[in-house]
Amino acid sequence: MGTRVHVIGGGLAGSEAALAAAREGVPVRLYEMRPAKTTPAHRTDKLAELVCSTSLGAEGETSAKGLLQAEMRAANSAVMAAADAARVPAGGALAVDREEFAEGVTRAVLSHPLIEVVREEVTALPEEGPVVLATGPLTSDALAEHLKARFGDHFLAFYDAAAPVVLFESIDMEKCFFAGRYDQSPDYINCPMTEEEYRRFYEVLTRARRHTPHEWEKLEFFEGCIPIEELGRRGYQTPLFGPMKPVGIFDPRTKEMPFAVVQLRREDKAGRMWSLVGFQTGLKWGDQKELVRSIPGLEHAEIVRYGVMHRNTYLNAPRLLAETLQFKEEPRVLAAGVLAGVEGYLESAATGWLAGKNAARLAQGGSPAVPPDVSMLGGLVRFLAGANPENFQPMNANWGLVPAWPERLPKKERRRRMFARGLSAFRDWLRREGFALTAA
Ligand SMILES: Cc1cc2nc3c(=O)[nH]c(=O)nc-3n(C[C@H](O)[C@H](O)[C@H](O)COP(=O)(O)OP(=O)(O)OC[C@H]3O[C@@H](n4cnc5c(N)ncnc54)[C@H](O)[C@@H]3O)c2cc1C
Repeated sequence: MGTRVHVIGGGLAGSEAALAAAREGVPVRLYEMRPAKTTPAHRTDKLAELVCSTSLGAEGETSAKGLLQAEMRAANSAVMAAADAARVPAGGALAVDREEFAEGVTRAVLSHPLIEVVREEVTALPEEGPVVLATGPLTSDALAEHLKARFGDHFLAFYDAAAPVVLFESIDMEKCFFAGRYDQSPDYINCPMTEEEYRRFYEVLTRARRHTPHEWEKLEFFEGCIPIEELGRRGYQTPLFGPMKPVGIFDPRTKEMPFAVVQLRREDKAGRMWSLVGFQTGLKWGDQKELVRSIPGLEHAEIVRYGVMHRNTYLNAPRLLAETLQFKEEPRVLAAGVLAGVEGYLESAATGWLAGKNAARLAQGGSPAVPPDVSMLGGLVRFLAGANPENFQPMNANWGLVPAWPERLPKKERRRRMFARGLSAFRDWLRREGFALTAA
């Protein structure tokens, strides 16, 4: 037995982290503020409560979420075990009975002899021993204030204003080109539009429907961060003077300035994922996809993360965290879940698992570990530590996080091979690290 690990937050990430650490033989104290104090989204006192949908993502060997599910099953994840036990038919997705799922995770945590659950709000980091911070998108105000004071207030965001992100290989580079405004730098991909193309795009924009936020999620926006649909609502010309302005951009094929332009900015070092600059949006996902695909060059764009605009609390991971999920400045503290910069139930649980294992390592005087880059969890934590820190937005599991398959093959076949490659490398890594491994 080593030093005690403190886990703050008993959601998807914190519950998984507590069990992952305890299963290494380390005593854990898990703090959860509910039911004494609750969040605007939670309704019960159960651990790992699902606050909205009951889906942990698409399954199968061509799905990026499917790979993360398979990795978590191999790693003996408590959240995956509870999900598998509580699953309901959902045609290709892993959906669960909400109560049964939360009950399963709660039972696993409460029955573990090395975990002590403390039902209180934490307002400052415990000063000794490894700590996993997993207080999620609705971290209490007092703790958020403490984190701001400790790590710098510009490193903590209180809402998402995310634009859609597309996979590079799905962009038609016959139509688009690399260039900056007034320069030929390769930092931006530009999708030029004629007046007729802009008019068609504008029609799609103005009829697209917005996602209806909960009352407490509604946000006031700064002028620099207005959703694209709001710009469209203000008038036909407005986007042309905003994110779609063509000034200083010349199409190398025509040497002329297009009527309008959509710019894409690199999200990751490898240049596999690109976000639409100034296209933060709260549109419904189907309508968002139609809008993105109405842009010349993006007709077949694969969206790996949809734009969202809602209340959220998360750290600027690339500035603060290492791939092990440790704070660079204070390595005994680790972050997991949405607070660490991931999006989604499954991603939260997976980062919780890694943070829990690494906290246990620290408690036992060992070295933290990082999964291989071809695995989905490895790709996710590398993204957190290595993403573009300017305007950093949370990320979900997707194929842009892992290296592309080197051969040209049909998409499904490529994905199948990336799935097999990732799972096999992850299983080998679990074995090498001595982490419990379930049967194949
Ligand atoms: C309204 C809403 C809807 C969402 N819908 C979905 C969805 O449909 N699908 C999806 O995949 N993802 C969804 N997400 C995103 C995200 O995946 C989930 O929020 C997920 O639960 C995040 O896991 P987590 O462990 O990081 O946070 P949580 O599961 O929220 O867990 C954090 C826990 O920390 C506790 N806590 C907070 N502050 C303190 C403190 N100071 N002291 C002690 N305890 C504290 C909270 O009570 C909570 O139990 C949604 C998020 C929100 C806000």
